[in-house]
Amino acid sequence: TDACLTQIEGAGALNAFVHHTADQAREMAAAADQRLKAGDAPALCGIPLGIKDLFCVQGVPTQAASRILEGFRPEYESTVTRNLWDVGAVMLGKLNMDEFAMGSSNESSVYGPAVNPWRRKGSDAALTAGGSSGGSAAAVAAGLCLGATGTDTGGSIRQPAAFTGTVGLKPTYGRVSRWGVVAFASSLDQAGPMTRTVRDAAIMLGAMASVDPKDSTSADYPVPDYEAALSGDIRGKRIGIPREYRMDGMPAEIDALWQKGAEMLRDAGAEIVDISLPHTKYALPAYYVIAPAEASSNLARYDGVRYGRRAKLSAGDGITEMYEKTRAEGFGAEVQRRVMIGTYVLSAGFYDAYYNRARRVRALIKGDFDQAFAQGVDAILTPATPSAAFGLGEMQDADPVQMYLNDVFTVTVNLAGLPGISVPVGLDAQGLPLGLQLIGRPWDEAGLLNHAEVLE
Ligand code: GLN
Repeated sequence: TDACLTQIEGAGALNAFVHHTADQAREMAAAADQRLKAGDAPALCGIPLGIKDLFCVQGVPTQAASRILEGFRPEYESTVTRNLWDVGAVMLGKLNMDEFAMGSSNESSVYGPAVNPWRRKGSDAALTAGGSSGGSAAAVAAGLCLGATGTDTGGSIRQPAAFTGTVGLKPTYGRVSRWGVVAFASSLDQAGPMTRTVRDAAIMLGAMASVDPKDSTSADYPVPDYEAALSGDIRGKRIGIPREYRMDGMPAEIDALWQKGAEMLRDAGAEIVDISLPHTKYALPAYYVIAPAEASSNLARYDGVRYGRRAKLSAGDGITEMYEKTRAEGFGAEVQRRVMIGTYVLSAGFYDAYYNRARRVRALIKGDFDQAFAQGVDAILTPATPSAAFGLGEMQDADPVQMYLNDVFTVTVNLAGLPGISVPVGLDAQGLPLGLQLIGRPWDEAGLLNHAEVLE
């Protein structure tokens, strides 16, 4: 803990931590020490972690990187963080992210973006750590903490992991409780671990996951010992390569990395099979209808009354002006865009044309995966991102759709509720990390982690 606190002090330029809890960290570390001395050594005893600013931690500022939650200190603890503290983990502070987890570059944060500790060869230009869990990824990559929590609605754990050479796991929908995690799109959101190694991800997932009566979508499945499941033996397993993920204009180095990953799995005794996920091309449009629709509903609660900040009002302002002024100054541009899109696709006249159609597409996408798994595929291998980390500011003037294209390989997994992991597999020509994604059968995080370790 002391070593991490020192590292954090020297790493302000990364803008990874946005709230520091150093005193609390020292107290928690001392308590962990006592537990160890008493012969009680739970899974994460004394392990210093960073927490994405989306998780409510009792008494600690929790803003989802938004101005509208300024001053909000929850009176309750999220189930995930409760679970982590119960097994002895130490809280270093809150980590930067895109506002309300909407984004792929951390640039929508009210704190400004987290910065990737990696640089292109021969260049000092600051790169994105990805988003929305950019602070988590930067902190883990720079050794500011031994692990961090992330959340993933359309790729926000896996894409930043790929951009920073770290491991990021999005569990099966329902594996980890959403209680106390600020909601973005409730049918897609899932929290998971971001770590340096697959083994660490296995240990941390075991601590985060639980059956939780406070989250009605938390599934009543026992949590296995993920670390014990890391046998290294994947002989006879079948790995699917979905042909629809070979996108036009995909950089040659991404394709080469994908082939390298397939060879590593083959060398370890797995069989590589060609599979088809025919509805893949509809995933991004469906996601960018469903996620904003759910967001517009979830974010209706930020009204200037119940949480955080209220705008200054003028004489004669009524309740409508209070809502309008508070939300106009409290939400950033990307969040406002999502609320508007969501409200539009849910409106009476357009509901069938957009929202209901997107839901049907979602069912087809899930059906594609069901079919692949029914044919005996154990895991699916794809690139994690269409490129390595891009420069901060590089995408800012582009059409927002350019940013949304980052999620092309990851959103299908959320739409289908499956577990997915991003593992660092190599570097590009500029020396930047690249990741591959493995997608698993529902509830088979253990198998997924075991396959992922072969790629490490
Ligand atoms: N980049 C995606 C979005 O902006 C995913 C975000 C996430 O997974 N939280 O919606």
